[in-house]
Amino acid sequence: MADARDLIGRIGKVRPAQRSAGQSLHRPLLLLWAIAQAVHGRPREQPWSAVKHTVGPLLSEFAGAPQGHQAVLYPFWALQRNTLWEVAESADLPLTSQGRRPTLSVLDDMNPLAGLPKQDYDRLSKDLELAAWAVGNLLVRFFNPMPARLLAALDLEELMVGPIASYLRPLQGELYQHRGAIADVYGGNRVLGITPLADGLLTVYSDDKGPYDDQRIPGMDWIAYTGDGLSGDQTLSAGNRAMAEHQERRKALRYWHKPHRGRWTFETWAVIVQRRQRWGRGQDGLQRREFVWILAPVSSPMSDTWPREVVEALDQDDGQLHDDSIDVIPAEVDAPSKSERTSARQRYERLTAAAHRTAADRTHSSRLVQVERYLRSPAAREAVMLRSNDRCENPSCMGHPLERTDAGAPLLEVDHVNGLARTGQDVPELMIALCPNCHTLKTRGRERNTLQRDLLVVARTRHQAFLEKP
Ligand SMILES: [Zn+2]
Repeated sequence: MADARDLIGRIGKVRPAQRSAGQSLHRPLLLLWAIAQAVHGRPREQPWSAVKHTVGPLLSEFAGAPQGHQAVLYPFWALQRNTLWEVAESADLPLTSQGRRPTLSVLDDMNPLAGLPKQDYDRLSKDLELAAWAVGNLLVRFFNPMPARLLAALDLEELMVGPIASYLRPLQGELYQHRGAIADVYGGNRVLGITPLADGLLTVYSDDKGPYDDQRIPGMDWIAYTGDGLSGDQTLSAGNRAMAEHQERRKALRYWHKPHRGRWTFETWAVIVQRRQRWGRGQDGLQRREFVWILAPVSSPMSDTWPREVVEALDQDDGQLHDDSIDVIPAEVDAPSKSERTSARQRYERLTAAAHRTAADRTHSSRLVQVERYLRSPAAREAVMLRSNDRCENPSCMGHPLERTDAGAPLLEVDHVNGLARTGQDVPELMIALCPNCHTLKTRGRERNTLQRDLLVVARTRHQAFLEKP
């Protein structure tokens, strides 16, 4: 595995130049061709003239190079820097005045031999699983969606008969005790939450015990993944920048998950269908704006296999930030400026309006609307918290504990009076703030039906009263 990781790691570092028309695909194509030579037991080293005449047409067809034969010069020389390609006696070749590479006529005259380094060639020719992994990696990263004739033109159809994802490692479902164990096998950073493995493919980690509040969106398998940055407003840098780039270019990533007391699992491939922003609590206990990346699980990183609903969501996504932090501002951030009473009522009105707007969307069944409703549901909750004035709203409460949480919040649970399943509406007049005792009585007590009926009247009355505050 260590040998394989070394090779895959060097392939993972192949990062061709960005051009206005996209990535330059010259080096990935030459590398694919070279791997095919090893797979078929063809000579490791081949003369420039042969490489030029076989790879040239590939560059024209699949890398958009108008002068394919001449274009071979660039990867023929540059791939050496990735230590994945060797040009025999390259030190003896005269280079251009900038000292960058030999000219075409020098290569035509000298006709040097070139090919994969010997240990890589030997490894790939003996280990077809490794060869398929290497080919799969290059296809996912550079030829995605895959051009129809590509595998046939490279003579790699037999090697890649199955789904591309089945050739990549790790496989879905692989389990590891801790992050270090993943890195020992597949490389990559051991701490960061958003970071590639050695193979160059981005991976995101979600730890149920960790500081971030990542969640499956109720009723669907999509994931609300909190961005990078532990405290303070998150910025579009580091991991978040990598996520934005993946969103823009529709590149899949790996989603690893660690359930509470469980092990790390490569749970699924996923693609980012939306970027949102909301308020959340940082590790310092303070409210801050954080990114939420909406991940849609897919069975393969190859985009032509993605289900229609995911493609539709991607088509609907304008790549812009959807900001849930404007309507739904936590009370502790939105400190009242003028008279306490007036601004509390105004804030309650605004939160109620946001909750109603979101609730009105219920007729839409689009997945993105479901996502929005879920992420905006804090509006109703914040409103009820405001209305409660930090006290249990049950008039027959036997005593609300005065202790507060570490973050200074009261011990209150905001819930639907009748339970979400029956009413469904995330609006303040149907919700109530209860202390843990009363919450238990409401959900599990023998008299819960009577209590719920009474609390519904309480919620509506308090709601109306709050709106009519002077
Ligand atoms: Zn109570």
